[in-house]
Amino acid sequence: MLFGYTSGLKPNQLRKLSQLYRRKSLPAQIVSPELARSITELSHEIGRQIGLLIQRQGIIEAIIVGDEKEIVIPDLSAYRLGGKRLRGLRCVHTHLKHESLTQDDLTDLALLRLDLMVSIEVLENGLPGSASIGHLVPPDGEGKVYEILPPVSFHQIDFLCDDFVAELEKKLSQSGAAFDVHDKRERALLVSVSTGSRFEQEDSLEELKELARSDNVVVLDAVIQRPKKIHPKYLMGSGKIKEVVIRALQAGATLLIIDQNLSPGQAKSIGEISEMKVIDRNQLILDIFAQRANSREGKVQVELAQLKYLLPKLSERSTDLSRLTGGIGGRGPGETRLEIDRRRVREKIGRMETELRSLSLGREQRRNKRRGTPIPIISIVGYTNVGKSTLLNVLTKSEVRSEDLLFATLDTTSRRLRFPREKEAIITDTVGFIRELPKDLFNAFAATLDELQDSDLLLHIADISNPRLEQQINAVNDILAQLHLEDKPKLLVLNKIDKVDPETAKNLASRLNAIPISALQPASLINLIKILEEKVFKI
Ligand code: GDP
Ligand code: MG
Repeated sequence: MLFGYTSGLKPNQLRKLSQLYRRKSLPAQIVSPELARSITELSHEIGRQIGLLIQRQGIIEAIIVGDEKEIVIPDLSAYRLGGKRLRGLRCVHTHLKHESLTQDDLTDLALLRLDLMVSIEVLENGLPGSASIGHLVPPDGEGKVYEILPPVSFHQIDFLCDDFVAELEKKLSQSGAAFDVHDKRERALLVSVSTGSRFEQEDSLEELKELARSDNVVVLDAVIQRPKKIHPKYLMGSGKIKEVVIRALQAGATLLIIDQNLSPGQAKSIGEISEMKVIDRNQLILDIFAQRANSREGKVQVELAQLKYLLPKLSERSTDLSRLTGGIGGRGPGETRLEIDRRRVREKIGRMETELRSLSLGREQRRNKRRGTPIPIISIVGYTNVGKSTLLNVLTKSEVRSEDLLFATLDTTSRRLRFPREKEAIITDTVGFIRELPKDLFNAFAATLDELQDSDLLLHIADISNPRLEQQINAVNDILAQLHLEDKPKLLVLNKIDKVDPETAKNLASRLNAIPISALQPASLINLIKILEEKVFKI
């Protein structure tokens, strides 16, 4: 196919251009000398750059006509990267002003993950002059993305294209092999774009990291962007989004997680430019809830929230379509299908809401039945990252066992806690509380905490080293009140005392009427275990 700026070309020039397709290079050649000569001569004649996208076997995939300064590479989505490190296409194009590869050339190289980006100088007589070759490099930890080989005269070029690309691809995938091939987890680059306070932004991004880890995502890196204003299409400007995508590709990411919530249009644009899965903060949170929801009601609540999140995306796509079909008038078949999809989703939402009403009745009955169960339940609650899981884990480790306390694992989040004298309790971990939980996610969140209703004691863990300790404690108490749990017996525990000085720990603990511990120091847990036993068995 012929792409680009072809207007004003004479018919014979157009014919010459399209005849280029019949030509082919050998796999070991960047471009055959005859072909190079054809494009430099033609470029010289028309005063515009000409580019070729060439497959590894030497077949020409596309011909692009630019202006005197640049070519614009067409959409390559037919050549999906998939898991590959390189696209399998190289770009060879002419430069009319004796310049080497430009910044735009190198951005294209990196963003499109081309095998090679090559520019060939057009001499005054139209013949090929020197050639510049750029290629990607494996991540070096310093952010270097590409390398440019020293320019050489095209006729003296001694470069085995297929060998070089094969070797490069091997190096690139080895650098990616730092990841275990059997590790099926998503690998994410986190991105935050904000014009607000930098402190808030960094804080929120830290929390996003924790959320991503709780969702079993490998966090490769996190980037902060602070544009002067939020751009409607990509949140940040198009130059910045390219940098972000290049960084993600370079790090071997499979997923972009954006800390800000995206409009359906933004999610789509960022997905298109990155060719990666893109999710925002709310979707990540919903995904965590979906994994944690145990009860039927919890599952329905979370799915409901997900569907409600999906609905506007469906409408957005159909307005796109109606804009496209608008000129013609009448509904396109695509739009009809989307209308149906939307109706189905709405119907499903309706059905689920009905189901929920009957489920909460059932829950009431179940709870009545449960009353009087012999085994007490202790539930760990608290903010994300305060050490809830660490505490639960550490309580099952042999060091604690040596204190004559035995715990047997029930499942990942719920364990049996055996106290001396044959007494036992069940201890459960919960999904962490989250700053500024969006209103429409609250029901889904509450549903994942459904089991707290059956709990006999809430073990509220807070991080004593967090500068916002008291705000977090209050926020957790507020949520517990919203869940009508304010009257449950509660025990406040200040974790991570190893990170503050002993005096501060002592003062805060006594002021907040809390038990100081460090989940990393088993000896500090003895007192907690004793108090737990007293509270739960009321001796
Ligand atoms: P959760 O989100 O509340 O379950 O928190 P995690 O148990 O995943 O812990 C979050 C981070 O805090 C981890 O990096 C832990 O290693 C760390 N952590 C947990 N307890 C302590 C502690 O007592 N002292 C210190 N210094 N770090 C801790
Ligand atoms: Mg945890």
